[in-house]
Amino acid sequence: MKMPEPKAIALLGATGSIGQSVLSVVDTLRNRFRIAAMAAGSNLERFIPAIERHRPELVSVKSREAAEHVKRLFPWIKVAWGDEGLVEVALHPAAQIVLGGLVGSVGLLPAYEAVRRGKTLALANKEVLVVAGEILMKEAEKTGARVLPVDSEHCALHQALRAGRREEVDRLVLTASGGPFRQRPLDTFSSITVEDALQHPTWKMGPKITIDSATMMNKGLEVIEAHWLFGVPPAQIGVVIHPQSIIHSMVEYVDGSVIAQMSPNDMRFPILYTLTYPDRLETPLPRLDLTRLGKLEFMPLENVRYPAVRLANAALQAGGTAPAVLNAANEVAVQAFLEGRIKYTAIVEMAARVLSHHDVKPLDSLQRAHDADVWARQEAHLIMPSLERPKKSTTPATLPS
Ligand code: MG
Repeated sequence: MKMPEPKAIALLGATGSIGQSVLSVVDTLRNRFRIAAMAAGSNLERFIPAIERHRPELVSVKSREAAEHVKRLFPWIKVAWGDEGLVEVALHPAAQIVLGGLVGSVGLLPAYEAVRRGKTLALANKEVLVVAGEILMKEAEKTGARVLPVDSEHCALHQALRAGRREEVDRLVLTASGGPFRQRPLDTFSSITVEDALQHPTWKMGPKITIDSATMMNKGLEVIEAHWLFGVPPAQIGVVIHPQSIIHSMVEYVDGSVIAQMSPNDMRFPILYTLTYPDRLETPLPRLDLTRLGKLEFMPLENVRYPAVRLANAALQAGGTAPAVLNAANEVAVQAFLEGRIKYTAIVEMAARVLSHHDVKPLDSLQRAHDADVWARQEAHLIMPSLERPKKSTTPATLPS
């Protein structure tokens, strides 16, 4: 029997946590997948060995200087840079699937352009759907582009939704691990350090999403993401705490049947699903052993502990530019927390304050989403001084090694 040609992938965000998992999947299944084009930011230490290993036809980096450096090392590869470079990678003619693994709203334009040309988009970069889900999904409907979620919860929902018809769905239930502070006394939240917040109990991820998982802004953004991906009204999307992160999400049907998707908590599983959909491929990855796990627990979400989920719901209800504003304000706040400028509890507070100052507009264009994003970042920086922790002038800050 003749083996099919390997499926060509355009990978956006090759050096991030998702990108590294994609490259690992491609490495394990070389006869099935290949990287046709890939883009990274400025982590050349990680990008250069990946280029060497995967030999794509096109790569892109953040700056012109970095592009010149890469070009000198790989004169036979086409090298692009900047926002245009990201779009060029997304639109590489050989690529059969675009994998959006960027972090933040920088991934919006390449994702949109891919969908506009009818390309299949496997999306891990949830901010794209939060900021402009309405526009992206409308465009996908127009061009027939397929948008497949890599985010583990949405990948689970995508799988569970195959068990029934859309009008038979009663509600979607997203699971959340609860992050590192599920049991921490609430009166100690203001002393949470960056190191504390970066200790995620079940998933290994990049710093931005790890902090978002601690505050559960991540889950809030995922509710918005689920709404746009599956067209389910916000009132029919719930969240339940499930500390083991084995059930990745569930769909409850009108007849009371609940279809849950389980797999080990390793992003290579949802990545593999999107790369092979609608088929399933035999995986060499370690399988789930439920008898070794023993128990799966579930508990309700505490609103006081995780105010971000309610805030994200409010942004979704407000609609239009509100989710874009929430997302941008949160990005600034998380960055400020990681830099030690604001306290942990100020992250959601900053996002809430920026959102409360926002005059919501309908989301009629990508430009409008972009403008809301820019406005929210400026507003967050204006608010910053009132939330900043006092600087210790005598002792120099010691960074974790
Ligand atoms: Mg997720």
